[in-house]
Amino acid sequence: MIDFEIFSPTQQIQDSLYTNKQVSVYIKRDDLIHPYISGNKWRKLKYILQKAICESKRHLITFGGAYSNHLLATACAGAKFNFKTTGIVRGEEVSNATLMLCKLFGMNLVFVDRVTYRNKHSYFSKHYFDDKEAFFIDEGGACMEAVNGCSELVDELSESYGHIFCACGTGTTAAGILNGLQKHEHNTMLHAIPVLKDGGFMKDEILKYSQFDKNLVLHLDYHFGGYAKTTNDLISFIQGISSKTGILLDPVYTGKMFYAINDLIAKDYFKPGSRILAIHTGGLLGILGMSEKFQG
Ligand SMILES: *Cc1c(COP(=O)(O)O)cnc(C)c1O
Repeated sequence: MIDFEIFSPTQQIQDSLYTNKQVSVYIKRDDLIHPYISGNKWRKLKYILQKAICESKRHLITFGGAYSNHLLATACAGAKFNFKTTGIVRGEEVSNATLMLCKLFGMNLVFVDRVTYRNKHSYFSKHYFDDKEAFFIDEGGACMEAVNGCSELVDELSESYGHIFCACGTGTTAAGILNGLQKHEHNTMLHAIPVLKDGGFMKDEILKYSQFDKNLVLHLDYHFGGYAKTTNDLISFIQGISSKTGILLDPVYTGKMFYAINDLIAKDYFKPGSRILAIHTGGLLGILGMSEKFQG
């Protein structure tokens, strides 16, 4: 069995903005689940690894960009649960903190050009057809097992909330939360924040794995220029939150989600008395790749 007890408390965040607008804001600390198998990445991997074990596959092959939280989570989980791991990395060979940690956890890194990277399944069948233990995990861990792992987040909530927010890369986490809300018959709105530009397609991605669309709202205006793009405004926002709360946010995912929450509160999007829950999906290693943005 692949399991470890997880620690992800829900905490209230105080801010004069919230007091003035008469809303309460809480954060579910999935970032505390594990330093490297962080946040939603652990939830996503749990049933994937269980499936690999059931099929007697001991070699995880997965895909990501050079700053991928998913690559790092897979590397560390592989080390912890006794798998060999290979990470197929998009683009030219580079070195950074994320990839260094992947290597420390024993992951074999293979850099491939963007065209090769795009055809993940054919790359996998071409290079691993005679490896009986090889197990394919898609970029970001996107699959139904991952959705089911993420839906367990809702089982852990002991209170109800009118609104839940999460950042979206593939939409897998959002789909899982929607399914969890459906299972518990919570009448909660899920607010999904795509962190990439033109994120409208995210709705279809989410609805591939969930049929609960009446409780889904997408906010498309908080991408800050695109995936992993930032602005000075976003960086100083993150500094403000971190210095006031002791909670770190990353500029790629959770910083954008939190910016959206505060911006919508400021614009009176929520009725007074609303209870809002932010999911801290972890991924703080992303900050290390962006240290130059936080200087000055
Ligand atoms: C990977 C990641 C996400 C995106 O999750 P999806 O399930 O792909 O939408 C969000 N937040 C953080 C911190 C991540 O590392």
